[in-house]
Parts: sequence; C-alpha cells; structure tokens
Amino acid sequence: MLIVHKYGGTSVGSLERIESVASRVAKAKKEGNDIVVVVSAMSGETNKLTDYAKHFSDNPSKREMDMLLSSGEIVTASLLAIALKEMGLDAIAMTGGQAGIKTDTFHTYARIESIDPTAMQNELNSGKVVIVAGFQGVNSNGEITTLGRGGSDLSAVAIAGALKADACEIYSDVDGIYTTDPRIEPKAKKMDYISYEEMLELASLGAKVLQNRSVELAKKLKVKIVAKSSFSNAEGTVIGKESGKMEAVLVSGIALDRNQARVSLRDVSDRPGIAAEIFTKLAEEQINVDMIIQNASSDGLTSLGFTVTQSELAKAKEIIENFDHDIGGKSFDNDICKVSIVGVGMKSHSGVAATAFSALAKENINIEMISTSEIKVSMIIAEKYAELAVRTLHSIYELDK
Ligand code: ADP
Ligand code: ASP
Ligand code: MG
Repeated sequence: MLIVHKYGGTSVGSLERIESVASRVAKAKKEGNDIVVVVSAMSGETNKLTDYAKHFSDNPSKREMDMLLSSGEIVTASLLAIALKEMGLDAIAMTGGQAGIKTDTFHTYARIESIDPTAMQNELNSGKVVIVAGFQGVNSNGEITTLGRGGSDLSAVAIAGALKADACEIYSDVDGIYTTDPRIEPKAKKMDYISYEEMLELASLGAKVLQNRSVELAKKLKVKIVAKSSFSNAEGTVIGKESGKMEAVLVSGIALDRNQARVSLRDVSDRPGIAAEIFTKLAEEQINVDMIIQNASSDGLTSLGFTVTQSELAKAKEIIENFDHDIGGKSFDNDICKVSIVGVGMKSHSGVAATAFSALAKENINIEMISTSEIKVSMIIAEKYAELAVRTLHSIYELDK
C-alpha cells in the first residue's frame, strides 16, 4: 500500500516527538508500505516567525513572508529525514517545490494548480521514505508560496491524490473527529465515519481539526482521509463518501467559530443599488462577508447587518466609516461567535432548527443572526455564551449518547 502520513504541529512539537513520529513512520514502512510523510512546522513556529516579521514591519511583503514561513516546515522535514536515517531507513526530505507542487502566484494564500509526482515517485521506487515540507509550493516564476494557515493538511491530501495513495492519514493530538471539540465538551463522542460534506461544513464553520480546503479537495479527488492521533494507536475517523444510512442521524456535529465580528448599519436608505455599493467596496478589498441580514424597511429606511472574520474587521470598519452617504448609524462588534449544527439528516427532516432555537432560548441565549443550508444551521450569539451554547446543543441532539 501507498500511504500518506501528515503530522501536525503538536505531533512534531519537540525533538522527542519528532523521534516518536520517526518510529511510527519506520513501523509503517517495515510493514511493507510505501510512505510519504507531510509535516507541519513545530507547534508555535509559524506564529513565532510571523511575530519576528512584525517586529520590523506592520505590513511585511507577502513574498518575503512566504520565504520566511515556509522555513518552519523545512526544518521539521529535514530533522525527520535525519532521524529516520539514524534508524536505518533511507529517507529524503523535500520542499514543496522539489516535490512538484505548483501553485498560483497569490502569496500567503496560494492555490495548488498541479502536482508533478515524478520526483516523489522516483524516490519511492528506490525504496526511500519521502518527506515533504507541508504548507508550501512554488509558483510559475519559481517563487516559494504558502497555502494559508493549516495548509499542511491540503498538501497531504493533494499529494495523496497525485500519487493515487490508498489513504491519507492525518495525525494530530486528537484520535479522530468528535461530535464537537472535545476541549469544549468532554462528553463529545468520536465518530467512526463522517461524510466529506459534513466534515467540510464542520471545518468551514470553525472545527480546526482539518483545514476546510483539504476536505474539499479530498472530496473532489476521492482521497480517503483517516484522522488519527500521533500519541495513541486508537482507530481514528474515516472521512469519505456519504452513505444512505447516514440520513437517519439528524445532527452529527456542532462547530464553534470564535473568529467572528459583526457590522450593523442602521437607517440605511432603502433603494436599489445600496447593498451592491457596500458589498462591492468590501469585495474590492478581498473582505469575505459571511452572514447578511436585511430587515423589512419602514419609512424608506432599513437596517443591514453582516459578519466578517475578526482579523478583517479593522479593514471593513475603515471602508464603512468612509462610506459617507445613505447610512444613518454604524456599529462594530467583536464579542460575538458562531455556533453551528451540521448533519446530512437535516435534508430529510424538519424541525431540527426549531429544536436548536428552543434549547438556546431555555438558557436565555439570544440568537442575533441565523443562516441555514441543506445540512447546517448557524447562529450568531454573544461570545460569552459560546461554550454554554455548544454544550446545550450537543446535549439536546443527544450527541453524548
Ligand atoms: P494540528 O496542529 O496537528 O494540525 P490542530 O490543532 O489543527 O492539529 O487540530 C486538532 C485540534 O482540533 C484538537 O486539539 C481539537 O481541540 C480541535 N477540534 C476542534 N473541533 C474538533 C472536532 N470536532 N473533533 C476533534 N477535534 C476538534
Ligand atoms: N505551519 C502552518 C500553520 O501553522 C501550516 C500547518 O501547520 O498546517 O498554519
Ligand atoms: Mg491543523
């Protein structure tokens, strides 16, 4: 079998942990498998490098940031190769570019355009363990690019797809995908299996256990992901195709996203073109708007609320403050969060959302915004109720049973 292993920051967070990753890789190799390992930077390293840059500049060049941040993963990859050789295995460390990962030119948030697996395949054929620095590639000008935070998951899935690997095993400090973040709700239960669709929603709605773009790509390339722990030998969770019987389960997981902020606009002139003008200005600055609510108007005035990520609030605020016509009042709120319930079963059942609303009401938690899709319901609430809301929803749908 050809298996891609991916080890996240915590799993390679110290020299001892890199050593134990080496043992795990060596064991899989000795069982007769071909192994490609994708590694993250040691935990905290990407943030540390970012802080170093901030010491010199508030707005460092994105090209140089990619040079800088890509080094974290290169350190881990090289150390792992050295450790493996010491254990008697032949191994080679590669940068993303050397592994054949080609991206577009969008520095700090590049997309993978193609992977030429020839170099990796040649090294595998000669019996080596191939170790690839995650989170990075190279663009058509030969410049190093990075793939966005958490991007080593994406590297691993893309490589598994390009090599037609039998599985992509993603190792972290949890032994699988739980019904919600086990750090928030200790009663969360590990799932044996979850569909790509549900995992994509959970990841996009705040469950950081897998990067959302990696799940999207796995679905497209039909890569089987197994989420496992690097600290135990527990079975893990398989992420794969939706199966018929899954619809019997109403809600399969709860996600929490604390990185949310809200912009509220009052006394907005209710005439065609206003929303277009506001949201075009935001889009021009690459600000992603998530939920939008507009109220019914009275006396030709309406109110408009929308959410952005906290990191983009300052930019959004600047744009809105400079908007000098047709808006009566403007306010900005960082102390909100988004809780979401996710489940493919919602497609065929009604009343799922109403249950959530009643449960939160019983706890006196006010729901400030709502958005729904076929398989999710998201609610914006005050940040201080984040944990209570997650635990309340987890229990009302009996996810702890
Ligand atoms: P790595 O550094 O290896 O990439 P992450 O920190 O990105 O690992 O992801 C693992 C963390 O994801 C866990 O420690 C856990 O707190 C968090 N997490 C959030 N939601 C979930 C969930 N539904 N199931 C499991 N873990 C979750
Ligand atoms: N080191 C990068 C980050 O912290 C990429 C990753 O770990 O996946 O975001
Ligand atoms: Mg991660």
